[in-house]
Parts: sequence; structure tokens; C-alpha cells
Amino acid sequence: MSLTSKPGAGRTYFVADLHLTDERPAATGRFFRFLQDEVAGADALYILGDLFEAWIGDDHGEAVANDTAQRLAALVAAGTPVYFMHGNRDFMLAGRYAARSGMTLLADPTQIDLYGMPTLLMHGDTLCIDDTAYQDFRRRVRHPLTRALLRRLPRMLRQRMARQARAGSEAAKAHKAAEIMDVNEAEVVRVMREHRTGRLIHGHTHRPAQHAHQVDGRECERWVVPDWYARWGYVVCDAAGCALRVGDL
Ligand code: MN
Repeated sequence: MSLTSKPGAGRTYFVADLHLTDERPAATGRFFRFLQDEVAGADALYILGDLFEAWIGDDHGEAVANDTAQRLAALVAAGTPVYFMHGNRDFMLAGRYAARSGMTLLADPTQIDLYGMPTLLMHGDTLCIDDTAYQDFRRRVRHPLTRALLRRLPRMLRQRMARQARAGSEAAKAHKAAEIMDVNEAEVVRVMREHRTGRLIHGHTHRPAQHAHQVDGRECERWVVPDWYARWGYVVCDAAGCALRVGDL
């Protein structure tokens, strides 16, 4: 696709794994510039999870939460809809914050019609089925009853639990083989077949790439959007196709 013309109508942007926190202002600044310089005027912005490093509830007190809500609401008011799918870090983000920021919440997965091409959107963690310990944990914490219970806990307690969960996840990752934290190829094919889609866009693995998969003899594409730790970037699509853009933070 050509990226020489000015961004705007006719394009849709996909980001994930920004992991925004007051502790990493460079990523926040880059994101706000990205919204202003590239996304403004576009057809839509899809945030495919882990917008925030942590989210203890819609009373999340970090400055970055307020600033991000304002920027996104301005973008939406100017005519570019913003869609949000939960990640494993910010699955407690709920309707109150979505309303403040003008975001429309999406289920994981969601299939959209992207310029005539059925395109499946996911955060990506459910594709990593080889990490059985994580999948067990995910089933427990994402259960509606667990989430309802979590929402009723005092904020101080939720903050402490989020810190402990992050430390536990870092410790567990250090002992896991790199392959089990990537997507399972057979699961990718199964999901694409089930949804009869020719294109999948997801994040989570922090392994930005364009992949080709054979699904029942059909050539299908899978786009992995980058994380915003040492780098930043996005997938952008128009009627001609998609492109992956990655830069240094
Ligand atoms: Mn994730």
C-alpha cells in the first residue's frame, strides 16, 4: 500500500500492548503524537488490549488514565471512532471509563468487515494455548463472578493485588520457554477456520510480524501488532491491504 498520501479517510489503525503507565512517559507522549499526527481523520482506531500496564478498576488513579480519556474523547468527537478490546492487563476496564473516553467496548474475538475483507480481531492471549498455567489463571480471573467480586473490593486492596499479580507473572515468564508464550499455530488455523476469516489481527505476544497461514487450502494472513516498550508502532489497513509500521521509541 502507499503511505505517501496524508493519513485520513480510507484508513483504519490497529494498536495493542501500549502498556501505558505514569512510569513510562515516553510511550504516553508517543501515543498522543500518534493520535494527533496519524490517526486524526482516519476511519477508525482499534485498540486490541493492554492499552494500560495495569487497571484496577475505572477509579484507576493514574494521570495517564485521565489524559488518555481526554485525548481519545477528542478524537471521537472529531469523527474517528475508537474501539477497545480487553487485554490481560486491563480486563477490568469497564463501561464508566469507556464512556468517558468515547470508546466502544468490543468482545474478544470480534469480526469486522474491513473494506470488504472479513477481519478477525483478538487480543491474542487466547491463542497461546501451550501456556496452560496462564490459560487456567485467565479462566479464573476473567469469570464474571470473579470480576464482580473484584469490583467490590477496596481500591487499596485491588492495587496490592495488581502489584502481586504483575510480580507473579514476571517470575513465571522467566521460567517459561519462549515458544509456549507465543501463539499455537494449530489454534490460529482452528480459530480462522471457525470464523471463516481470511485475516486475523492481534497483539499480546510482542512479536510484530506478518504471517501467512494455509487454512483449508486458502492463503490467510495474520498481523501481529507491536508492543510499545522499546519501540512503538501499529498496523494500518486500507482497501488495498494492510501494512505493519514499527519505529524506535
Ligand atoms: Mn497482553
